[in-house]
Amino acid sequence: MRKLAAGNWKMNGLASQLDEVAALAAAHPDPACDVLICPPATLVDRLARKIVLLDSTILIGGQDCHPKPSGAHTGDISAAMLRDAGATHVIVGHSERRADHAETDAQVRAKAEAAVSQGLVAIVCIGETEAERDAGRTLDVVRGQLAGSVPAGAAPETIVVAYEPVWAIGTGRTPTPAEIAEVHADLRARLVQRFGPGASGIRLLYGGSVKPSNAAEIFALPHVDGALVGGASLKADDFGAIVAALSAA
Ligand code: PEP
Repeated sequence: MRKLAAGNWKMNGLASQLDEVAALAAAHPDPACDVLICPPATLVDRLARKIVLLDSTILIGGQDCHPKPSGAHTGDISAAMLRDAGATHVIVGHSERRADHAETDAQVRAKAEAAVSQGLVAIVCIGETEAERDAGRTLDVVRGQLAGSVPAGAAPETIVVAYEPVWAIGTGRTPTPAEIAEVHADLRARLVQRFGPGASGIRLLYGGSVKPSNAAEIFALPHVDGALVGGASLKADDFGAIVAALSAA
């Protein structure tokens, strides 16, 4: 399986931020893993044009999409629009959207279905809060989110699952390697149980304070097929070091 280093720029980046992509492409012209950047929607088209100019293999993704293909939904963006702008992937159900916009598992699943129907790979995010982990409910929570958010017929070409403990995002804190391994093994077992042996090829990303200093240790864990990276994806040096660690894993 080809692993995936995905960068989520969140609500960061004006046009000048694309210089970081040029630096990343120059430093890592032929990585041994897929490299994806999910800029804010305003930059998807410009990034797509830049990637062509750079003759780079870097992939482009959106950070969210509406479940409907078009209509009266001011401010929203459809999967078809992302695809039209040059995206091949889209993040759905990021914990910041679940929290800020009260997105439910059913809505996340509908977004993932919309993405797949438009030919995009949906990166479905799940993860427990700190209170849920402290209460010993981590596996219950992520199993529920996995069952509710991942659409029927999920396959390696259409769905990526990102395990992102909410309390690890942007905090500099991470679960222990054993804790990450426990969740990823459980998610893998659930996916195979639901979708059959082919689901062993669905990529499981870890996300939450991945940085150059901890990347190699996390990527060495079983069933960790890459990372969803927030803060450290904004700088070419940091993201490049993570790409290098994943390429070497
Ligand atoms: C994220 O936003 O998905 C994320 C993992 O952020 P960070 O790497 O900054 O913790």
